[in-house]
Amino acid sequence: MRGTFPARARVDLDAIGHNTRLLRDRAGGAEVMAMVKADAYGHGLVDASRAALAGGATWLGVAKLDEAFRLRAAGVGARVLVCLGVPGEPYDKAVALDVDLAAGAPWLVEEIAEAAERAGRPARIHLKADTGMSRGGASPRDWPLLVDAALKAEAAGLVRTVGLMSHFACADELGHPSVAAQLRAFTEMVGHAEQAGVRPEVRHLANSPAALALPEARFDLVRPGIATYGLTPIPEAGTFGLRPAMTLLADAALVKRVPAGSGVSYGHTYFTERETTLAVVPAGYGDGVPRHGSNLLEVFAAGRRRRIAGRVCMDQFVIDVGDDRIAAGDEVVLFGPGDRGEPTAQEWADALGTISYEIVTRIGSRVPREYVGHGASGGADGQ
Ligand SMILES: *Cc1c(COP(=O)(O)O)cnc(C)c1O
Repeated sequence: MRGTFPARARVDLDAIGHNTRLLRDRAGGAEVMAMVKADAYGHGLVDASRAALAGGATWLGVAKLDEAFRLRAAGVGARVLVCLGVPGEPYDKAVALDVDLAAGAPWLVEEIAEAAERAGRPARIHLKADTGMSRGGASPRDWPLLVDAALKAEAAGLVRTVGLMSHFACADELGHPSVAAQLRAFTEMVGHAEQAGVRPEVRHLANSPAALALPEARFDLVRPGIATYGLTPIPEAGTFGLRPAMTLLADAALVKRVPAGSGVSYGHTYFTERETTLAVVPAGYGDGVPRHGSNLLEVFAAGRRRRIAGRVCMDQFVIDVGDDRIAAGDEVVLFGPGDRGEPTAQEWADALGTISYEIVTRIGSRVPREYVGHGASGGADGQ
């Protein structure tokens, strides 16, 4: 079945369910918050969220408020945490929609408390500790001020501090000394908050690598992102039994014979060595195929791997298949689980010197998502 767009990201919802179950089994009783920010790492916010919930996640995590609103608008009623707070956002709407909010500074607690007053019900907040990443959250020096702000707002009936959280900087590097230091800092900061009178429902710190490889970091809840989508957070430690959920596909647009010495694509960075068959693949950097992958990345076409020939363009790239048979309309697999010979997102990431997160997340919004597996609504685009 061909849609109206010549490329598609096929998302296997069963794989997301499998990965979530695996993460829950390894969480040793801790709950699972599936991180579904950035359109579920490119997999489609709502459908991926539903698949993760079906697999046993009890929370969803996003970065930005609008992502939580989109979940609620789609009828997703599960607990949702917004991890990244910015001044001046419509927190009253968040409170009305029962969305949890992370707060890493007293001014944000106060802003949320004012919004809760307008909304007429208490806000649910998670205090965010900077235990060593030096990004969001209150540093150990400022932590008592944040805890005091939360206790004050709680005493006024405007917030309920349901969570204490932090985030690892280097959990994907096995044995990195900062990991133990962050764990120690978190334990101390949690201890301080509890002594001051905070009674959190959930304390949480673990991203995918920690959820899979660091049992002592699980606390009450783990927050896996990349592992939910089946990509390993620690490539050198293997795949952990995860199943990649996304396959990127395109239908060959045009096939032609060209003579030896033909310069291919912008800049003529590739020349044919002999008379050969070229195929135009209709996916380019406008769809999320990295331009740095020119003459570098491999795709699977006409029975084997082929390197992209010449520059990746906005809407297309070219492959050289030699004398092999390929026809316009034939399916080209750009990346996927790897079980039919295609490269994985991890292989693309390795070739490009980046992480698999970036490969799947950058697949453009104009590429339709096609859902397969249990819970898929007939292969429709879920946008
Ligand atoms: C993205 C994110 C995660 C998940 O990270 P992964 O490495 O993808 O598992 C966890 N917690 C927070 C706060 C995040 O922003």
